[in-house]
Amino acid sequence: MINLYALTPSELSSLVVEFGEKPFRARQLWKWMYEKRVDDFAAMSDLPKRFIDKLGQNASLGSLELITRQNSADGTEKRLYQLADGQLIESVLMPYEDQRKTACLSTQAGCAMGCVFCATGQMGFARNMRAEEIFEQAMLFARELASQGERLSNIVLMGMGEPFHNYEATMQAIRQFMDRLGIGARHITVSTVGLAPQIRRFADERLQVNLALSLHKSDDSERSALMPVNRRWPIDELISACRYYTAKTNRRITIEWAAIAGENDSSEEAHKLGRLLAGLLCHVNIIPLNPTDRYSGAPAEQERIDKFRNILKHYGVASTVRLRRGIDIDAGCGQLKTNLIELDQVRG
Ligand code: SAH
Ligand code: SF4
Repeated sequence: MINLYALTPSELSSLVVEFGEKPFRARQLWKWMYEKRVDDFAAMSDLPKRFIDKLGQNASLGSLELITRQNSADGTEKRLYQLADGQLIESVLMPYEDQRKTACLSTQAGCAMGCVFCATGQMGFARNMRAEEIFEQAMLFARELASQGERLSNIVLMGMGEPFHNYEATMQAIRQFMDRLGIGARHITVSTVGLAPQIRRFADERLQVNLALSLHKSDDSERSALMPVNRRWPIDELISACRYYTAKTNRRITIEWAAIAGENDSSEEAHKLGRLLAGLLCHVNIIPLNPTDRYSGAPAEQERIDKFRNILKHYGVASTVRLRRGIDIDAGCGQLKTNLIELDQVRG
């Protein structure tokens, strides 16, 4: 089976000719795939029946199989998909009051970075996702929203995996979100654990795509204990890569801060972070920790977070607190898969 989402326009043309059809059929097919976004060859009403049959026998529209979905009281929907080789990955759709619909997508099955508080990090690395697999997660949401008269407006690469550890496929998928789904660069965000060379490489792409850096700690030895990759790319190198990014793109970086009680929510920590970030074109996004089974940390208290933010303000560093969404459905990164596997183990 040939996954048509994996093909460029010229590859699709060659395939169409190989199937014995005129090249213009490729344009028709492309329209059905990316403008009308149908999920079935039979719906492609201006294609000849023999071509539809041939497509049905030899080609597919995507390769993801939906295993389960869960809907949260706040409207968040979380999905678990199986890839063709059996790997499981997750996508989340978050509706906001202002009509925005944001998809949170995975870039790898598992993750090699080993952050101790993260459910995906706790399960280890299986493999990189292919560009068409990353893309298809967005397509599936876009298609379903369109059928309800709505539209997928934003994408964040904050699901399972480290996007910059799968750089090429991630960049290819980003270009496809823009070209094939019409989602603007400014509505796409890549989140990284902090791979400094790739931050620079990303800056050199000169795209208007947003960048988020998961910092969580402002002291090297403490950050290394939570996020082992810090030993390779320590904080100074990250901040210098961030400065390179803001200079090249003129875009504000988001600094992600998973607020953990007693770990990174003190006034002292806020002062340290304020000093570190003062003068950088950035914004701090505070997310109270989502507890996971294999990490004992708990979310920071609201009061501590308020104090933390006030201190940052003194350094001219703006911040917001992100709501914990889908908390009742394990919508934290990697948590649905973890819980499903545990369920399977219980069932034997
Ligand atoms: N690998 C990338 C993107 C995926 S993780 C990265 O690390 O940035 C997306 C975000 O979720 C990151 O900011 C990550 O630190 C955060 N995160 C992971 N586990 C979390 C948890 N248990 N609670 C809160 N945030 C978490
Ligand atoms: Fe990987 Fe990001 Fe989880 Fe760290 S937080 S283990 S980089 S997915």
